[in-house]
Amino acid sequence: MKKQILLSLLIFMPWLSQAQYNRCGVLIPSQKSINKVKEKQSSINSFISIDEAANYIKRIVSQVPDWQQNFVLQERNGINNAYAHMHNGRRFITYDNLFVEALDYQTGTKWASVSVLAHEVGHHYFDHVLDREGSTHSKELEADYFSGYVLAKMGASIAQAKAAMAKLANPYGSHSHPPRNQRLAAIEKGYNTIKPRKVKPRKKSNPYSGNFYTQQSDVRYVNVQPRSNKVVQATWFFNNGQKVSENLHYSRTTSRGAKVYYNNYMQNTRRVELYFFRDGRVREKDIDLKKRRYTWFNFSRH
Ligand SMILES: [Zn+2]
Repeated sequence: MKKQILLSLLIFMPWLSQAQYNRCGVLIPSQKSINKVKEKQSSINSFISIDEAANYIKRIVSQVPDWQQNFVLQERNGINNAYAHMHNGRRFITYDNLFVEALDYQTGTKWASVSVLAHEVGHHYFDHVLDREGSTHSKELEADYFSGYVLAKMGASIAQAKAAMAKLANPYGSHSHPPRNQRLAAIEKGYNTIKPRKVKPRKKSNPYSGNFYTQQSDVRYVNVQPRSNKVVQATWFFNNGQKVSENLHYSRTTSRGAKVYYNNYMQNTRRVELYFFRDGRVREKDIDLKKRRYTWFNFSRH
């Protein structure tokens, strides 16, 4: 019985502590962080005036080619929000200065509030505010995409472009808002259209390099070093301290996918072949070409 009570408590706890999100699905900053912002009005992380915010909006709009738009920027403190709307045919962005400053405070970067403004501009850009339907998942993702696109152009890093969403979006989403991971992906998609992440070409690690050990009575191990696509250098280390080095040339790939490298020696009377299997095993085939006899030896990494 006790267990049951505990379980139901656990189930209801997240519900009780459910965070509050604003109209665009961004967490409403805690009173504590808002108080912090109020305490230090002169912090570098703040829009000193509506002019500065207006300046950001101008810069955001100027990032979009062939798009000119005048906005009415409206500061309304205490609404814990930033939103895009239309009034008498004019495009408005209304924002709460304390709200955006608290976002900057919580994320530790000014790009947070810039990304929120860019998101709102995105709602205008995609004409989301023409209908009265309100937020939908696709609208929010489009505005997020727009914000990623603009922030890349303005010089933010991908982490800065995502900062607000990473910290402040609802991880589970809601009927009107997609979950955080989808929104972050939308920002990244927009960002990548400007600054595609450079994928470092992965160094092809040659599976055939290194030491391969054996249980033979005379040979301890063979060291293999790739020299080119078609040549490997193999050095046999003997138990008596001797070593013999040969360049082996690629000859073929077996039906089981093993790559075969060979070298003929002793006036072409003998041939050594190394078989490199995909699973990392190496087999050596010693062939007496005159007598048409051969012997196999197994090597492994350990
Ligand atoms: Zn939104």
